[in-house]
Amino acid sequence: MDLGLNRRIFLKRTFLGCLSMGATIRFLSSVTQAGEHFGKKAMFFKKVDGNLIQCELCFRRCTIGEGRRGFCRVRENRKGELHSLVYARPAGLQIDPIELEPMYHMVPGHKNLCVYTASCNFRCKHCQNWSISQSAPEEINPMKYTPKEIVEESLRQGCKSISHSINEPTVFFEMMIEVAQLAKQKGLLTLCHTNGGIARAPLIELLKFLDGVTVDLKSFNPKFYKEISEAKLDPVLDTLRTIRESGKHLEIVNLIIPTLNDDMADIRKMCRWIVSYLGSETPIHFTRFFPQYKLTSLPPTPIKTLEEAMEVGKSEGLKFVYVGNVVGHSANHTYCPKCGKKIIERSHFILLKNQVRNGACPFCAEKISGVWSSSI
Ligand code: SF4
Repeated sequence: MDLGLNRRIFLKRTFLGCLSMGATIRFLSSVTQAGEHFGKKAMFFKKVDGNLIQCELCFRRCTIGEGRRGFCRVRENRKGELHSLVYARPAGLQIDPIELEPMYHMVPGHKNLCVYTASCNFRCKHCQNWSISQSAPEEINPMKYTPKEIVEESLRQGCKSISHSINEPTVFFEMMIEVAQLAKQKGLLTLCHTNGGIARAPLIELLKFLDGVTVDLKSFNPKFYKEISEAKLDPVLDTLRTIRESGKHLEIVNLIIPTLNDDMADIRKMCRWIVSYLGSETPIHFTRFFPQYKLTSLPPTPIKTLEEAMEVGKSEGLKFVYVGNVVGHSANHTYCPKCGKKIIERSHFILLKNQVRNGACPFCAEKISGVWSSSI
């Protein structure tokens, strides 16, 4: 696929666990000097005592003293006011096929511009993008790009959508929501790929301007969230329910890591919960882990484990179950849940053939959940 860019490949993507096929835009003239003191007044915080404030953006609800930052290191208390240090300071912009998000049920095969910054509110030991996600903004030489310029760049590059992913987009909420608002005005599709730790109020506000969300459901075991990600499962489940209530398109990623979250009884419980609370039409991607960051002693996920999970998902009634990070696997395609015919063919994240017509199977007219058209 011609991605329309001739710039250097820069970053690894979470979904693949191998080198990115995308291209990252980094205009050297716009790189800021490390440590530059920038910021924008944050949304979603309250004063608790004098200049002590509480951030209300994610499940951590950090209490932050004057001059200090929250757990994510990108939200700083300046004289009793919370400031985002990554507004208009992306770490990079990257153009990829939409399938790489992964987002399989949204206008397949189009070019997507992905925005990301430094930082995360989780501490996953297996993070593929740890050099970005576990850094403070002054450690990565961010670019200068306003939300308006990001939208213009996306249009200039012929993209149909803008996504917020690679690092956790909650931590750059102020930029994300402004980009999404402006992008919608220009007819672009908008999405984000999140760990699901965002609080309910900002999520509801954000969803007004999003067409779709990909959520990492890392495990159905709270112990995994605590020990591997320094996070919590329940807020992620709340996020999933809120997205479903909003009516926006939702896809789920479950990265299966050998010995840590490959228990089929847990996977069955998770699939059962998804069917009950989110619906059987929710696409799920069981993706292959490759040794990374602090988990280099573990092997890649055996393909048969992913296939077992896929069978569990199907037996619980999930209609769209994918195997990710395995090149050439037959579970990379979309099959009609009613007649069983192959309706979207992919090779890894490259679209080969899309037969969905007006959001339905061309063979039996079964409606296929997703977003199947865009205005540009
Ligand atoms: S967004 Fe950052 S500062 Fe706010 S609660 Fe979450 S980790 Fe803490």
